[in-house]
Amino acid sequence: MENLEQARQWLAGATSLAVLTGAGVSAESGIPTFRGADGLWKDFKPEELATPEAFARDPRLVWEWYNWRRELIRKAQPNPAHRALVKLEIKIAHFTLITQNVDGLHDLAGSGKILKLHGDIWRMRCTACGANWPDRRAPLPKLPPHCACGGLARPGVVWFGESLPEGMMKEAEHAAASAAVFLVIGTSAVVYPAAGLVPFAKHAGAKVIEINTEPSAVSGIVDCALHGPAGEILPQLL
Ligand SMILES: [Zn+2]
Repeated sequence: MENLEQARQWLAGATSLAVLTGAGVSAESGIPTFRGADGLWKDFKPEELATPEAFARDPRLVWEWYNWRRELIRKAQPNPAHRALVKLEIKIAHFTLITQNVDGLHDLAGSGKILKLHGDIWRMRCTACGANWPDRRAPLPKLPPHCACGGLARPGVVWFGESLPEGMMKEAEHAAASAAVFLVIGTSAVVYPAAGLVPFAKHAGAKVIEINTEPSAVSGIVDCALHGPAGEILPQLL
């Protein structure tokens, strides 16, 4: 509990906070992490479907998978960790939420400023004209979906082998570098470039606090590691 008290003090005194969230936060809302056995659908691994090559080969198959994921996600609700982050955003003047999650649960909880590093499963993008738009229907009425221009639509997410939306990583780095406290929640911190934000914040002088169910790749460099469900720990830090 010493660590908890320390983390609480740092947060209470912080005027700037950056937060990085990952799949663990969504898992506490019942959303599979889509990694390993947890991510299997019809015997496909996510790595076999979430790629530009898979989409080029069989857009309908990739969309069936996303349709399934959207239906799962639609049933999920934000948990106490999502809600605690909304409270922190209201309380701390300079606040940036950086997430690797695409499920939209931070939006649903009421977070305002969100950098969605891996995009948003509730948005679509036209592969022909580049238009992008929100679409929250689950299931989708027709697969694969199309744009008004007739072009094939793709999920508005970042796939394996693709780069992050332009400028977003820069903005995340800026937030990490200017934060007094950097919170890393529910991510194994092994997926780059997001994982690089942790040492980045640390070198810039932030106090780094990790909340994870188990020790992760960054546990060794954080200033304070709290192990347990984020939905239980985070509300105690307010
Ligand atoms: Zn179009």
